[in-house]
Amino acid sequence: MYADRIKSLPPYLFAAIDKAKLEAMARGVDVIDLGVGDPDLATPPHIIEALCEAAKDTDNHQYPSYEGKLSFRTAVADWYTETFGVRVDPESDVLALIGSKEGVAHAPMAFLNPGDPALVPDPAYPVYKTAVLFAGGVPVTLPLKSENRFLPDLDSIPADQARKARLAILGYPNNPTGACADLAFFRELVEFAQDYDIILMHDNPYSEVYFGKDRPPSILQVDGAREVAVEFHSLSKTYNMTGWRVGSVVGNPEIVEGIGKVKSNIDSGIFGAVQDAGKVALRSPESGKFVAQMRETYQRRIKRLYDGLTKLGLKVDKPEATFYLWAWIGGDSGEFAQKLIRRLGIVATPGVGFGKYGEGYVRFSVTQPTERIEMAVARIEKMVAEEGG
Ligand SMILES: *Cc1c(COP(=O)(O)O)cnc(C)c1O
Repeated sequence: MYADRIKSLPPYLFAAIDKAKLEAMARGVDVIDLGVGDPDLATPPHIIEALCEAAKDTDNHQYPSYEGKLSFRTAVADWYTETFGVRVDPESDVLALIGSKEGVAHAPMAFLNPGDPALVPDPAYPVYKTAVLFAGGVPVTLPLKSENRFLPDLDSIPADQARKARLAILGYPNNPTGACADLAFFRELVEFAQDYDIILMHDNPYSEVYFGKDRPPSILQVDGAREVAVEFHSLSKTYNMTGWRVGSVVGNPEIVEGIGKVKSNIDSGIFGAVQDAGKVALRSPESGKFVAQMRETYQRRIKRLYDGLTKLGLKVDKPEATFYLWAWIGGDSGEFAQKLIRRLGIVATPGVGFGKYGEGYVRFSVTQPTERIEMAVARIEKMVAEEGG
């Protein structure tokens, strides 16, 4: 029944996890789900208020413009200037998206012909690879290894392979590894894209979820990036707005326009009231306070879970950004995750679900209330104490 592009999708790896979770729940276990990366914290009230007001505006009841309201795109452009110090033209360099996932998923269709290679990291957010497959492209794996701080080794890509590649999709701060890229790496990446004429797509939804004193950079901060790159951004992780579906792509006008050509034939834009509220989220000084609190909350949770996982004997680095802990378990990640559910009632995501180079790792997300994280750690400590004693 299904087309080859559906048959070509990687198998759904989490069926066994879902089953173990349901079995545990049926046994009456209070399952703590650290599997999904979806903020538990609420959208700040001033943004919700803005939506309620904007919903009453009858102009918002008709089809929105497919590229996004100029007022929203201007707010995105201004936010980029304030946040990263880069100049962005709201008319030509910004396109509104129904969340960054939507943009990433549709973008390769504008640039890949059947059989065109595209560079995709492994482990990675699964959409990068499926987007390439859906566009008829051929994903070429860039392994992300811990000894290279989970950055791709650009020098190891054979020149003929790099020349053939049409585009590359990658993202830092990174899901699932929690790794960050510095400006030096982005410079190298932009130069690589210029040398080999590669369209660079950088996915950056976690730029505000960081714990050091400096914000992780945008790829658009690199001189010349606007010639070859676009960056996907999102309100989802910044303002706890995953359910609202609003994001943007910013950068090279030709690439932005190409993505727009695909989208204008598929969707009809984002509800105008959501864009109006998104504008308030990006502009309001109140948002900054919430984001600062959010960072503190995640950082506290990460510290607690890090202590717990370390006691469990797992090798894990404290992430500098994102709300994920990427723990080395050194074995079959699917089996480990199932055991974790059966023995402790804790759900985590097997690393192999992000690609074969993710095998041996398990991803824990701290997007559960702090007391649930505490409870997970208490279960780990109890088990370790019992087994040790
Ligand atoms: C959460 C996430 C997204 C999706 O964000 P939306 O804007 O909600 O679609 C995109 N990329 C990565 C790496 C993510 O983790």
